[in-house]
Amino acid sequence: MIVAVQPLAGFEKLLHYRVPESLVDAVRAGSLVRISIGHRHGIGLVLELNALPDVPLEKLKPIAAVLHEFPALTPDLLGLARWMSSYYAARMDSVLETMIPGAVRAGARLKHDKYLAVARALTPEEHAALVRKAPKQAKLYDFLQQQFRPVKKSLVLHRLGATAAVANALLKHGVIREELHHVERVAYADNWSGGEVVATRPPELNPEQAAVVASVGASLEQRKFAVHLLNGVTGSGKTEVYLRAVEAVLAAGSSAIYLVPEVALTPQTVARLRGRFEAAGHKTVVWHSHLSEGERLDGWTALASGQARVVVGARSAVFAPVQDLRLIVVDEEHEPAYKQDETPRYHGRDVAVYRAKLAHAVCLLGSATPSLESIANVRAGKYVQDRLTKRVDDKKLPDIQIVDMRIEVMRTRGLTTLSRLLVDHMHQRFARKEQTILFINRRGYSSSMQCRKCGHVEECPHCSVAMTYHRADETLKCHLCGHQRGAPAVCPACAAPEIRWRGLGTQRVEEAVRRVLPRARLERMDADTMAKKHRFRQILGDFRAGKIDILIGTQMIGKGLDFPNVTLVGLIDADLSMHVPDFRANERTFQLLVQVAGRAGRGDRAGEVVVQTFTPQADAIQFAKKSDFDGFAEAELTMRKNFAYPPYRHLIHHIFRGPNPEKIMFFAQQWAKKVETTLGGEIEIRGPSPAPIEKVKDEYRFQIWYFTQRTAKVVAELVKLQQTIEWPADVTQVLDVDPMSLV
Ligand code: ADP
Ligand code: ZN
Repeated sequence: MIVAVQPLAGFEKLLHYRVPESLVDAVRAGSLVRISIGHRHGIGLVLELNALPDVPLEKLKPIAAVLHEFPALTPDLLGLARWMSSYYAARMDSVLETMIPGAVRAGARLKHDKYLAVARALTPEEHAALVRKAPKQAKLYDFLQQQFRPVKKSLVLHRLGATAAVANALLKHGVIREELHHVERVAYADNWSGGEVVATRPPELNPEQAAVVASVGASLEQRKFAVHLLNGVTGSGKTEVYLRAVEAVLAAGSSAIYLVPEVALTPQTVARLRGRFEAAGHKTVVWHSHLSEGERLDGWTALASGQARVVVGARSAVFAPVQDLRLIVVDEEHEPAYKQDETPRYHGRDVAVYRAKLAHAVCLLGSATPSLESIANVRAGKYVQDRLTKRVDDKKLPDIQIVDMRIEVMRTRGLTTLSRLLVDHMHQRFARKEQTILFINRRGYSSSMQCRKCGHVEECPHCSVAMTYHRADETLKCHLCGHQRGAPAVCPACAAPEIRWRGLGTQRVEEAVRRVLPRARLERMDADTMAKKHRFRQILGDFRAGKIDILIGTQMIGKGLDFPNVTLVGLIDADLSMHVPDFRANERTFQLLVQVAGRAGRGDRAGEVVVQTFTPQADAIQFAKKSDFDGFAEAELTMRKNFAYPPYRHLIHHIFRGPNPEKIMFFAQQWAKKVETTLGGEIEIRGPSPAPIEKVKDEYRFQIWYFTQRTAKVVAELVKLQQTIEWPADVTQVLDVDPMSLV
């Protein structure tokens, strides 16, 4: 048999190999194989069986070995790899490397330990003879004879002070036997969710939930491709619906994949899922970035072999080689974290939908603030929309109050961090022993340094973005390239001593809170605290235990938090996400407000939300105040339609970068002309123009935008066109299809 193999690690071309007789049974489409490429040894993936070679038969080299018992890619994953490579304009080898974990590609083996057990009982005569002739062997035999199960070889020998030769003699005569036992290093056995207590007994579904479970269940029964969008307000019990769907799939003997935006930030959710599935006897693989190579390999093998049938993880878990895939859940489907920002620049949600299609499975997307792309698909009849309109137990959605910070600033004649309303509410909560969460829009964006006299803002010399002030060590840091320097005491431009800190970092807010509530117990959670291992879990644990009154953090910590004693949530600076050069700015702001508000009032007491903003009249803020998703979607879709932005057209972002700005601009302009001539009828071209962040790590960046309705075709043409050009070594250019971040 001859097979077509895609080598990994920087080799673009498909190669052909002969399969030796001894390996014919082991080689399957999707198998990882050891091959020689020229004079090197390498690893490749079998893309095609029974291929037609492009070289004479006698020149074909044989496959050297097959790496694993199971193919690394199932048939649907092979199809997915091909689609990703063309849709996202990524090389096949880079797609495969993204889909298959490093430990698997490295061909690592499962770790085994040797165990010993008695194979044949000795007669009393034989035993007496052994005691006489070889007392050490007799001692080992006696020990093993007393055991109920095989014991680890190294342990017994150590304990009895025996050498391997003693065991070998008994092995040779068939008196004892040696077994290889797979060592469980598996991540599903650990306790990384930090001792969160999780109820595993399922609650009874309310009528709305039951209707959704029935709707999804009907699609699962049909074994046909379908996409459901579960659009349910925060705290409406969406997770419970996902759990039921997964349970139905497991009960039917099939497999499910459950995606969350970031495993590390959603320990509660992950613990809850695992608790439930494992109580039902299903091994659950948790796929997260802190796994060791061995754990990853074990998890992967458990899934590929069908021993485990459910995996929970971030976007790359969508590539899990599960058997008989029947359901993919995508929790918080609107999250930009699903998009990978390096090659291949795939969107985990969209890949999930496509994989479900290839596998004739159901894709269940869910969110309290679905993306407008998904809403457009519902309107086009491609997705089924299921809704949960009420919180469980008819708990009220929190009351959102908007504070106009322009008035606040006038009133206090200066810059205020905390409005009077927010401070009053915090005092009340503290007096009632209830908890508060304060959210800051994003660390780093805000704590820049501005001179009150000349207006100078200190920027990174390499990145043209404002640097962030860190009070703890009196430094300015660049959050793009990491450049840092001491914070100046006077303005570097005009030497005035009136340097002030514009905007708010988590530390600024912490200080402000300490001033107004000196006795409250505070904790801060941001990228700095997160960097310390276990700190995140520990803080969440303390907060749950009531050891913290006020938690301050960036919105990224807000995902999936469910604390019943939180009755007040404050959003300090709602505007920040609105004034960025991105057509999704309104959508992001609306999502932020709704998600942040959703953290309040999850227990028995109603929740309140205070939103501070300099633009209270903005649509995103007004619709969020009314929790009016439909109203927001309608208004925003109208805007998008008028400008023919996504979801009405697809967007492709073309980034050019390098050290020489004139040279890049020249190449970008030449390229744009070429595209206009070749593809003018299919696309609208905008640019080239400098990127919003013009310079990153000493490289200048320019961009071109393409708007089109025929993405696949346009991408293919662009890739073809790219190959006709001799790009200079110092001009890098990358295509980003369906970009999620425009800066
Ligand atoms: P969502 O994912 O929509 O934000 P969750 O699934 O986290 O909501 O549900 C919120 C809370 O309500 C959780 O603590 C969950 O255990 C509980 N819950 C969900 N469904 C029910 C139900 N039918 N009856 C009682 N409690 C429920
Ligand atoms: Zn920088």
